[in-house]
Amino acid sequence: MNRWKLSRERALARLRDLKFAFRDYVDSQFGFRAKDCGTCQTPCCADAEFVNVNITRLEGEAILRVLGDTARFSAKDRVRILDRAARTVETLGLESAIDTFATTYACPLFEPGTGCLVHSEAKPAPCIHHGCYEAPEHLPDEASRIEVERTVAELNREVYGADESQWGYLTIPVWMTRLTRHRRVECESADAD
Ligand code: SF4
Ligand code: SF4
Repeated sequence: MNRWKLSRERALARLRDLKFAFRDYVDSQFGFRAKDCGTCQTPCCADAEFVNVNITRLEGEAILRVLGDTARFSAKDRVRILDRAARTVETLGLESAIDTFATTYACPLFEPGTGCLVHSEAKPAPCIHHGCYEAPEHLPDEASRIEVERTVAELNREVYGADESQWGYLTIPVWMTRLTRHRRVECESADAD
C-alpha cells in the first residue's frame, strides 16, 4: 500500500499550477507597476545580506527538475550551479542554522546576465510576490502570498508526511544540496544492486 496520500508527481503538477496562477495574479494586478528586474544594477537575489527565502522539500524537488532539463542546462552548467549551492551552504554554515528564516544568503539560482534560473517553472512564492514598487499601496497583498505558502506546505505534507523538522521549510541552497546528495545515494544503491 502506498504510504503517501498524494504521489510526488501529482503534487509537483499541482505545485506548478499553483505557482503559475500566483504569478499571473501578481503580474496582472501589481507587477506592471514594479521596477524592471531585467535592468536592475543591484539585484536583490545576489545580495548575501538580503535573501532569506525558505522552501519545502517539494519545491526543492521542483527546482532540481528544472536544473535536470538537459535541453536547458548542460551537465557542466548543472554541476556549476549545484557547486555554487554547496559552497553557499558550507561558507555560511546553513545546515546548522537554528533559525533558517533569520539567515541570509546570495541565491545560487541567480545567474548574472540571466536572472532567476527557475523563474518560469519553480520560483518560490515569496520571490513571485517580491518586487520594487514606488509606493507601499502598489505592493501585492500579503494575504495572497500567505495563502499560496499555506497550500505549498499542505502539498508538501501530503507527500512527505507531517515531520516538518525533516521535510519542511529550509533555505534554497540547503534543499538543493540535500536532494542532490540524496539522489547520488539512490543512484549508488541502484548501481550496487
Ligand atoms: S526586486 Fe528590485 S532589487 Fe530585486 S532584482 Fe528586481 S528590481 Fe532589483
Ligand atoms: S529563487 Fe530566483 S527569484 Fe528567488 S532568490 Fe533565488 S534567484 Fe532570486
